[in-house]
Amino acid sequence: MITQAEHQLKQHFGYESFRPGQQQIIEHVFEGVPSMGIMPTGGGKSICYQIPSLLLPGLTIVISPLISLMKDQVDELREAEIGSAFINSSLSYEEVEERISAIRNGDIKLLYVAPERFEVPSFVTLLKSLSVSLVAVDEAHCVSQWGHDFRPSYMRIPSVLQQFGSQPNVLALTATATPAVRDDICQAFGIAEDRVVQTGFSRDNLSFHVLKGQDRDRYALNYIKKNPGEPGIIYASTRKEVERIHDFLQAKGVDTGKYHGGMTALQREASQEDFVYDRIQVMVATNAFGMGINKSNVRFVIHYQLPRNVESYYQEAGRAGRDGEPSECVLLYSPQDIRVQQFLIDQSDSDDARKQNEYRKLHQMVNYCHTEGCLQSYILDYFGDSGAESCSQCCNCTDDRETEDVTKDAQMVFSCIKRMNERFGKTMVAQVLTGSSNQKVKDMSFDRLSTYGLMKQYTIKEVVQFIDYLVAEEYLRMTDGAYPVLTLTEKTVPVLKGEEKVEKKQEKRAETISEAHPLFAILRELRTGLAKESGVAPYMVFSDKTLKELCDKLPKNEEEMLAVKGLGAQKFEKYGEAFLEKIRTYREENPTMASTSTTVTGSRSSRRSAIGKKDKTPSHLVTLQMFQSDQSLEDIAEERDVKVSTAGEHLLRCADEGLSVDFSRLIPEEVTTAIQEVIQTVDLSEGLKPVKEALPEEIDYFQIKAVLQGLVEKS
Ligand code: ADP
Repeated sequence: MITQAEHQLKQHFGYESFRPGQQQIIEHVFEGVPSMGIMPTGGGKSICYQIPSLLLPGLTIVISPLISLMKDQVDELREAEIGSAFINSSLSYEEVEERISAIRNGDIKLLYVAPERFEVPSFVTLLKSLSVSLVAVDEAHCVSQWGHDFRPSYMRIPSVLQQFGSQPNVLALTATATPAVRDDICQAFGIAEDRVVQTGFSRDNLSFHVLKGQDRDRYALNYIKKNPGEPGIIYASTRKEVERIHDFLQAKGVDTGKYHGGMTALQREASQEDFVYDRIQVMVATNAFGMGINKSNVRFVIHYQLPRNVESYYQEAGRAGRDGEPSECVLLYSPQDIRVQQFLIDQSDSDDARKQNEYRKLHQMVNYCHTEGCLQSYILDYFGDSGAESCSQCCNCTDDRETEDVTKDAQMVFSCIKRMNERFGKTMVAQVLTGSSNQKVKDMSFDRLSTYGLMKQYTIKEVVQFIDYLVAEEYLRMTDGAYPVLTLTEKTVPVLKGEEKVEKKQEKRAETISEAHPLFAILRELRTGLAKESGVAPYMVFSDKTLKELCDKLPKNEEEMLAVKGLGAQKFEKYGEAFLEKIRTYREENPTMASTSTTVTGSRSSRRSAIGKKDKTPSHLVTLQMFQSDQSLEDIAEERDVKVSTAGEHLLRCADEGLSVDFSRLIPEEVTTAIQEVIQTVDLSEGLKPVKEALPEEIDYFQIKAVLQGLVEKS
């Protein structure tokens, strides 16, 4: 049976082999015993029921929580030529009838339904008249009261199953199960312990980052501009905040959509579709968005606020990189968010035991933001997967930023708070420190304090952010209540005495998520066009991973193309030729690129070693060598008989390959500032031309690119 399953995997999905856990889960399904698969998001749970559905005699029912996603799931299967359908309230009576008869004819092997429909008596009667082999319960953690998405209708699934004459087999699937949730699922569906397959929770392609005290808007905008065209989600905790961030990004020229519970179902659906179909780059949403979203090429997930627990965080952040490609999860932490979450717990109508449990979970989430250890390991430990190795890619594992000694500034803040008798909030403290002439400051005679104006070289906002950092590091505490007041903790005593230092990492710059291959953008554009023609989402045509492999391998014909992961015979028939055509053109136009086997998916170091292997030093490296021996760009251009701009582009390419180039030698600070100002005001989606036009003529494209890519260090 498993050999047949492997054949189906290749035929319908274009994959050579099963991922960890998949084969074992599928074997359990074929054995006909209730079983469970716990795999991280993107681990490949769907295939665990999709492949059996093709080989089992009867119908496979998939219970999936969100009606709005069923269409996407079915569309994706249609692309893989698997007969499937959904039945939900959006269909007319005739449409339902049509689907039922297709099931009876055996044309449909997979049927998606919501749990609420699964318990409707007339629907159960109908199902009983069909031969149902398997019921796959997706997002099975919804069955547990201890889970974070408890759904009462999930709890009733087991009793509905008992109503079937010969009970169909059950496969429960989830990504987020703490030990308590896992026990609940096993009990509900009668799953024996040895029928639970749990692959590690680790998501090796995700890098986790926690950033404290950032200007969130500026960070997000900078991040998006540094990663043009890369789809991402920004999660915010309230509808109002979603609206605000959405409007801000749109005003800055980012293609942005929004999603929250205050929008109509129709608006939400349209927005979701825009995102799935790559019509917008960024989705700003509350946690209402995303459950079951299959979009595989989400490259980043930024949390503007602290989520309420680690389960929610890992689930939301885990929506990045389902295709296995490098992706980032960034949490912008501010201690005030704790109060919002506490408030929400307080206001909920849960009983005391549940509230205590929620507080404990919130506390663990806050600890995640403070830990200096590996973030991935922290999460795995939380899910009972302890002893994991460090991921070597999260912000803590890779943090080699210089730290600054900020003891003096900290002492000023502490003594100001003390002199204000620990009775005021951070804005007031910041106003006093920056020497604000605000009336309230005067009324309270704070302008006579010795700390008044001590930090006047900073803005109020900068001082507030610094205070946030001191709260996060537990030097300061913020009281609860509507008007939080700053107080000093015992940690400030040795600092004020000059016995201990306070250090702060320098602000983190946004990085590009991965290196782009020039062909990638061409293939992505082709994919968008083909997807539009077929009426499916672009990632359903080919995943980002498949596109990148095409860039790496540059296949010349059908045979070479079929060796690419994610590219089965069915897909080749539909799209293969169009992609081959683009690749051929690219090979012709770039004969040198095509003949070297430099991988684009590899790390910077692998690219560097590839360069080292060539016997003739490439032109851009010659430019770098001359530049490093202190020749001016003009001299280099003249000596090498190229334009100054070409020599500049050479240096950009070196930087792109991870080599160190001191661009500040080429770009005076006032030019950098001028470029940065223009970047804020023009629409970058139209390319760099509008930026160039808005700047003095002597500023070159390569200078703009260097500033845009954050390559110019401020002196
Ligand atoms: P999950 O439901 O666990 O979050 P999916 O089932 O959506 O994950 O799978 C995530 C991605 O991994 C999809 O793009 C899917 O096609 C791909 N995938 C699944 N199984 C394999 C496999 N055996 N080899 C390569 N890719 C796979």
